[in-house]
Amino acid sequence: MLMTELIAKKRDGFALSTEEIQFMIRGYTKDEIPDYQMSAMCMAILLKGMDDREILDLTMAMMNSGDVIDLSAIEGLKGDKHSTGGVGDKTSLVLCPMVSACGVKIAKMSGRGLGHTGGTLDKLESFPGFRIMIEQEEFFKNVNELGISIIGQTAKLVPADKKLYALRDVTSTVPAIPLIVSSIMSKKLASGSDIIVLDVKCGSGSFMKTEEDATRLAEGLARVGRLAGRRCAAVITDMDQPLGYAVGNALEVKEAISVLKGEMGGDVLELCLTLGSLMVTEAGLADSLEDARAKLLKTIEDGSALEKLAAMVERQHGDKNSVYDVSLLPQAPVVIEVPSECEGYVNHIEADAVGLVAMHLGGGRETKESVIDLSVGIILKKKLGDRVEAGESLAEIHAATMESALKAAEELRNCYSFSAETVDSTNFIKGIVR
Ligand code: URA
Repeated sequence: MLMTELIAKKRDGFALSTEEIQFMIRGYTKDEIPDYQMSAMCMAILLKGMDDREILDLTMAMMNSGDVIDLSAIEGLKGDKHSTGGVGDKTSLVLCPMVSACGVKIAKMSGRGLGHTGGTLDKLESFPGFRIMIEQEEFFKNVNELGISIIGQTAKLVPADKKLYALRDVTSTVPAIPLIVSSIMSKKLASGSDIIVLDVKCGSGSFMKTEEDATRLAEGLARVGRLAGRRCAAVITDMDQPLGYAVGNALEVKEAISVLKGEMGGDVLELCLTLGSLMVTEAGLADSLEDARAKLLKTIEDGSALEKLAAMVERQHGDKNSVYDVSLLPQAPVVIEVPSECEGYVNHIEADAVGLVAMHLGGGRETKESVIDLSVGIILKKKLGDRVEAGESLAEIHAATMESALKAAEELRNCYSFSAETVDSTNFIKGIVR
């Protein structure tokens, strides 16, 4: 088989066979197919697309390029969640304890953040002493006995995606739906859970800018998950502003704890209830989405979700007290307000740009090697649709130094835009794909 022939076949709009796809992924993972040929193939896929059979074959070939985790030693149905990447997205910290308290087992492998979006692992490390790397035996024991554990991905999970994603990033081929679906689903399938719920973001803060593209991606992800034999559903959500109010690792953990304590509602809770009810229903633990929603809300009212989080932190060698007393979490030495220079209704908050402000404060990684400051970040005081008077605070900056705080305040002001008319901010969940 020759890679040049496969590139020409896809360039001319034909479907690749299962064997051709396996040859390509195996060869590329082993460095036998060079980057320049794979770049041409990615561009041909972006332009000509792939049918469902090809996407499933690509996903399975990528999944089989590394470790495939067998969770069968854990009793019961295991659930996993994936988000296509958002700013201020602390959903896993709220959702996982809630669904676990309802009886869905969570054996989750998460990643670190890179660039302007934070990673669940970094957020979890805000709990003093928390270990994200534990032995598989301990991980399985925690999930079996407690019902929840979140750990770091092994380096050997889908090596084909690590190479391919880096290549797509520098060849403008990230937004190809077959490549996104296979990238995300190969990792989710390799992680071994029976139920997968996906949060597909659309809007300025995500790579699917329109609702139509996000829906196509959500449908593609759910279809491949089901073709691969998993229970799978997706939610399309708005990313025209950061999720919730906090952006930055320890600040997001504090916000997640407030939601679990029932002190905060808003978009974070709504998203967790929507994703959670899909997961609980798919697990057969509720008769309907409404029933599942009521069960999830009960885990907040009776404190069982917060207790799950605390128990997980303790099992993974973290300080359980920091869940109940958030002053024990990392605190930034400098906190300043950001007074608005404009007045009006907030009609847009550039989510990517807010993520970059958090990164410049030291809360995000510019390269994989960057050391991050878990305490810094932003607390938004005004969100989409809110009325703002000149001089009123838009946000709070938490920084390591006054110099970095003042710089961040200036950058943050530029993330906001205003209109004289009222703005509708109610349409946050755009759709559900089951
Ligand atoms: N997230 C992934 O893991 N892969 C993509 O291709 C896009 C987003």
